Amino acid sequence: MNKVKIDDSSKNEIYKYIKTKFNGGFKKNSKDDTWDIKLEDFNELIKKYLFQYDGDINLEKLVKYSSKEMDNLINSIKKDKIEFNDKKDLEKVSFSKYFHELYIRLDNFLIIEALNIKVCLYCNRNYIVNFKNNNGKQVTAQLDHFHNKDEFPFFSVTIENLIPSCPTCNIRKSNLNKEIFNPYSDCFHNHANFKYNGIVDSDEKYDFFHEKRVKLELEYFGDEHEKIKAENYNSVFNIKSIYNEHRNIVSDLLKKEIIYSDEYVEKLYENYKGIFKSKKEVFDMVLNTDINEDEMNNSPMNKLICDISKQLGILKKR
Ligand SMILES: [Zn+2]
Repeated sequence: MNKVKIDDSSKNEIYKYIKTKFNGGFKKNSKDDTWDIKLEDFNELIKKYLFQYDGDINLEKLVKYSSKEMDNLINSIKKDKIEFNDKKDLEKVSFSKYFHELYIRLDNFLIIEALNIKVCLYCNRNYIVNFKNNNGKQVTAQLDHFHNKDEFPFFSVTIENLIPSCPTCNIRKSNLNKEIFNPYSDCFHNHANFKYNGIVDSDEKYDFFHEKRVKLELEYFGDEHEKIKAENYNSVFNIKSIYNEHRNIVSDLLKKEIIYSDEYVEKLYENYKGIFKSKKEVFDMVLNTDINEDEMNNSPMNKLICDISKQLGILKKR
């Protein structure tokens, strides 16, 4: 849900890995021997289709394209009404297949490791896995293609087009026809907040702080275009409905806000100085997470806890 960064040296490493799949390497792992192609020839093929939009286009540049460069290229292609998913155009079908073959040889582990994230970038709700077990086998997560790879095959291995995501978000995103944030350039966190909107008074079936009585809303901010993207994001990933299933976190925060008054936290800190290094540590324990917006992509539900704690003033107390 928060923006993610990848530095140039990581992009270089990933490109270096992709390059090893050519000049024989491609053929070795393929079920279909006809997939043998040299990098130089592949670059010629890329030039044939994309040279008119970018004079020095090649595979390396495509792999390292920024999300903004992808947007520009897509806009030009759309303006020219050029389609790459025309099944009757055999040359384009073959062009797309090469990219597909490259994609299935991609090392997801390498990309997720470079991003240093532990939670789905779309929902901030589910952990994603990325580790090598004892025999060196990788257990890793899915990468969603931000721009659909059938329509834009040449972005199949563009790093900023690959979003580590949980299976639920990957499936929900698959039929996307709405504009949303690409986490490499902007994010839901920058344009939407979870908001506690009071307690349902009329429902006395449940205790006052029962999660079923807590009203949880979303509020959007930014310019009109950004707000639309945030609304789209909510509808694509079902954010509001999914997070309404976690209102227990909000009701816990409401209770904590009352219980952990300044005086009480001061007392805990004074009494247990051997355990806590600062008052902040007392709050981190109370909130059950090391709340830090920079760490949002490493801890599930961090966005919800962060927004509500800010609204209730719990964060300010630290
Ligand atoms: Zn997700």
